[in-house]
Amino acid sequence: MSEEIVALRKRVVSCTKCTLHKSRKNAVPGYGNIGSEIIFIGEAPGRNEDLQGEPFVGMAGQILSEALAYSGLKRNDVYITNVVKCRPPNNRQPLREEREACREHLLRELEIIRPKIICVLGNTAFDSLLGGNLITKNRGKVFKRDGQFYFVTVHPAAVIYNPDLRQVLKDDLKFLGQTLDKIKKGLQIEFSE
Ligand code: URA
Ligand code: SF4
Repeated sequence: MSEEIVALRKRVVSCTKCTLHKSRKNAVPGYGNIGSEIIFIGEAPGRNEDLQGEPFVGMAGQILSEALAYSGLKRNDVYITNVVKCRPPNNRQPLREEREACREHLLRELEIIRPKIICVLGNTAFDSLLGGNLITKNRGKVFKRDGQFYFVTVHPAAVIYNPDLRQVLKDDLKFLGQTLDKIKKGLQIEFSE
């Protein structure tokens, strides 16, 4: 791990910038390969993540791992994080002020990793990063903002409630892997702004 990411992890685990720090067991900094060309961004830690201090280790994490394996991307090769780093009580959605308080940590992760493409998982990340909603209409699409590529897909936890989305997520991540290959080769890709 680079010194920069070690310093960031320290700041996150001791952060008290919003009230979520009061109810957390552990803050959950991002985790993975900091040399990664893709960063996955979810919503917020759930119960298992709060207990273990690592993102996407519970049921949603298993679904994400399965989709990654299918896509050809390796979980150990990528970097995974969340919009907020502490678990909201009862897994409620993080409030706007919590997302804003935590934004500096996310921006720092992006600055350190400088991914070629950011994979936005679900509505909270979509709204926080691209100011959009309607994930069902926008998923599977590549966006480009300020020179940065984004790819939007469903949140892995949505698969728990809607099993039809399991294959959607898998196919989306496969497409994401192919898109990354094209970006690396300097080939044209289609995107929205
Ligand atoms: N859901 C998320 O958005 N992030 C996690 O880390 C776990 C579940
Ligand atoms: Fe700090 Fe983010 Fe945790 Fe709030 S959610 S206490 S801003 S690390």
